[in-house]
Amino acid sequence: MSAVSEDNADPGTILVALGEDYPEIRASVRRICAGFPMEYWRELDAREGYPLEFVRALTESGFLSALIPAEYGGADLPLRAASVILEEIHACGCSATACHAQMYIMGTLLRHGSVEQKKRWLPGIASGELRLQAFGVTEPSTGSDTTKLKTRAVRRGDRYIVNGQKVWTSRALHSDLMLLLARTTALDQVRRKTDGLSVFVVDIREARGKSLEIRPLKAMVNHNATEVFFDDMEVPAGNLIGEEGKGFRYILDGLNAERVLAASESIGDGRWFVGKATSYAADRVVFDRPIGQNQGIQFPIARAHCEIEAADMMVRRAAALFGANRDCGAEANMARLLAAEAAWHAAEATVQTYGGFGFAREYDIERRWREARVPLVAPISVNLILAYVAQHVLGMPRAY
Ligand SMILES: Cc1cc2nc3c(=O)[nH]c(=O)nc-3n(C[C@H](O)[C@H](O)[C@H](O)COP(=O)(O)OP(=O)(O)OC[C@H]3O[C@@H](n4cnc5c(N)ncnc54)[C@H](O)[C@@H]3O)c2cc1C
Repeated sequence: MSAVSEDNADPGTILVALGEDYPEIRASVRRICAGFPMEYWRELDAREGYPLEFVRALTESGFLSALIPAEYGGADLPLRAASVILEEIHACGCSATACHAQMYIMGTLLRHGSVEQKKRWLPGIASGELRLQAFGVTEPSTGSDTTKLKTRAVRRGDRYIVNGQKVWTSRALHSDLMLLLARTTALDQVRRKTDGLSVFVVDIREARGKSLEIRPLKAMVNHNATEVFFDDMEVPAGNLIGEEGKGFRYILDGLNAERVLAASESIGDGRWFVGKATSYAADRVVFDRPIGQNQGIQFPIARAHCEIEAADMMVRRAAALFGANRDCGAEANMARLLAAEAAWHAAEATVQTYGGFGFAREYDIERRWREARVPLVAPISVNLILAYVAQHVLGMPRAY
């Protein structure tokens, strides 16, 4: 079902589906997830492993290629369908963070790559033969101030020579390709600070061990995070996406879709937590009655449920606007903020409901609580979303 009605009398009207939209997709995702029980994720977390089997199952089902057009072998689905896939994965207690970037990142190549580049990479990405899971933007010294990033790409003949460093590059050790943002014109030589940045597809398989070093980065969550170092790394000029110097705009272009997809994962997380907390509160008897009878336990869970439902509406609104090619920057950012916070509040309520058992590894609450903390910081921190809303929606002065 499309979010936008085709037989609508008024072409300006946008319909937002309520309830369990895309029921077949949801059922199919649940079937896949049933094959990956909590023990699977717990064991991966303990050894910081990559969920290869889960990613393979998703790839084979075609879900990871949801947003790739049919002509390149993808499932050619609207953004809302992709959003449902990610929401359902997380609502089942599984995690798409090992592979969701494939959905976000691919959009830059799809929208701004040449036909030749799309033919070269997209069919392999759609079939799962090629993994485009790594996105190199964040750098240690510049953080959220992306336009100041220091990684340089200098053109020499038919190649670019890249030097610099990235940090927090998730999944780089489990990816064949990396989308890289690097400066091609020095900051003091551009008119606007957003000019002079370029996007490249880096073939990790060719460069690794020579001019590209990838080091695992120990972290609170199993995100397969890495630090990446470029030392005179050669990238063919044919791997430059779009025009040189316009990369920042290309990345910005993909952000609305990314915000909606990330928000959907948080909605799924929130639903999983509320389900766990509700049933534990009903089963756990202390002082001769279920703890869920106490308002101190039930109110935070009920509040989290309300927040998730409200955030879900904003996610649907943003996805519907996106599907109708309407401006959805404000909605996508608000959805992302509301969903991340709702999931976090649900996680907090669940740990409190489980009491001491909330800390026991075998209950999975502590692990998913750690994971639910990430969206408040990455891929963008809550503060920067608020700064966006303050500036672009409310017309307040720019804070960054
Ligand atoms: C698990 C994980 C996975 C990640 N994966 C990737 C990845 O695959 N690729 C990638 O490129 N990056 C990735 N990141 C990096 C992530 O995008 C950054 O951590 C995030 O954008 C914040 O940047 P920073 O850590 O440098 O914080 P900083 O920019 O140093 O900011 C620190 C704090 O200050 C606040 N702040 C800064 N400026 C302002 C301001 N003007 N107004 C108000 N508050 C402000 C921020 O909101 C933040 O809370 C990942 C991070 C994590 C934790």
